[in-house]
Amino acid sequence: MTERITPELIEAGRRGYELDRQHVFHSWSAQEKITPMTVIDAQGSWLWDGEGQRLLDLTCQLIYTNVGHRHPKVVEAIKEQADRLCTIAPQHANDARSEAARLITELLPQDINHVFFTNGGADANEHAVRMARLHTGRHKVLSAYRSYHGGRHMAINLTGDPRRIASDRAADGVVHFLPPYTYRSYFGSADEKQEAERALGHLRDTLLLEGASSVAAIILEAIPGTAGIYMPPPGYVEGVRQLCDEHGIVLIMDEVMAGFGRSGRWFAHEHFDVEPDIVTFAKGVNSGYVPLGGVAMDDEIYATFAQDPYPGGLTYSGHPLACAAAVATIRTMHEEGMVEYARRLGDQVIGPRLEELKDRHPSVGDVRGAGAFWAIELVKDKDTREPLAPYGQTAPVMGEIVAECRRQGVLPFMNMNRLHICPPLNILEEDIVFGIEVIDRALRIADESI
Ligand code: PLP
Repeated sequence: MTERITPELIEAGRRGYELDRQHVFHSWSAQEKITPMTVIDAQGSWLWDGEGQRLLDLTCQLIYTNVGHRHPKVVEAIKEQADRLCTIAPQHANDARSEAARLITELLPQDINHVFFTNGGADANEHAVRMARLHTGRHKVLSAYRSYHGGRHMAINLTGDPRRIASDRAADGVVHFLPPYTYRSYFGSADEKQEAERALGHLRDTLLLEGASSVAAIILEAIPGTAGIYMPPPGYVEGVRQLCDEHGIVLIMDEVMAGFGRSGRWFAHEHFDVEPDIVTFAKGVNSGYVPLGGVAMDDEIYATFAQDPYPGGLTYSGHPLACAAAVATIRTMHEEGMVEYARRLGDQVIGPRLEELKDRHPSVGDVRGAGAFWAIELVKDKDTREPLAPYGQTAPVMGEIVAECRRQGVLPFMNMNRLHICPPLNILEEDIVFGIEVIDRALRIADESI
């Protein structure tokens, strides 16, 4: 592989960086305060930065390269599709799109049989909400404070994390509720059972106070990702399903980050005894090689639009290059047993090794996750659980930890006072062990700061 890293490639990366600083406007950034990392090549679980340094990619970029970088089967499928038919408008039928829809619905509950394809996750959530509103004839939508649903109009309003605040005046009908979070309970709960009961009681009260008959949908990440990768306590997700059933509310599961094997199951909601009405997805569906998202809906919601038109669409809905990549990704995940592998890796390697970090480091307050979806939460004080920085802020030491990891050849994902460990589902055991060892050494910086 290293023979691919030539002086010419490094020079192209250097030139790319200069042009980036002159012309590229980056997401979520103060444009002149950032120094984006240049990436010039990638393969499997590894990428190469602008200096030609090899880094273990524990970020899967934004948690989406589930089959790793440049998987040959997916690359080949995209090339074959491009050679035959690069693009086709959504009003036509196309084999790549149909097969992608078939493979996706095959993985979901029996009564989910149709897919509306979008360009990404926020798009999917926008359309899911629109469908739920048209289906129920109601207006309000409930979402959790600890959530991320995307950067578009409705999606950013649905989002619970602080990025919402600068733009949350735009969409009406959005109501937020407090989700369970056992490690830092908003309800003062002593254990998981109490947390599930109290969080459900709070949601029941919210429905009562808002008027359940005006609520079209509840949107939920079964395992919230960006908000901190925490497993809801047993019974909570099932309780939300029950409240939706009682009040005729559509349950939208946002599987954009957690779907397609990330948590060691095909979808995060499979950890619980629930069936959603709508599943939104993106990212892992084709490992992000070509942008793709979608709304998978059950037969009841589909029936609303069977005779009357759905008033929405996208120029690139079901783009054949993206769908061919999805078909190859899903088939490859089946053929190579990646979901089962990720589950085993989570249960037997990542989970136990992160637990050891918790025992060893005074700054590690909590570790949690499943499959290839993990978070390390850093604290000032293990007993009081005081976070390293207040909610919504990032302690400067976090940047130092990430920089030290990079120096030692590892790229972890940082979010507020947490490190997220989200490798490809097929990462080699020896590679993830190396990655955790590097994080272990770098965490000394956090220990010394408290
Ligand atoms: N929903 C969830 C759970 C996500 O994690 C994300 C992105 O991180 C989105 C929606 C938005 O997806 P996109 O950035 O593709 O619009």
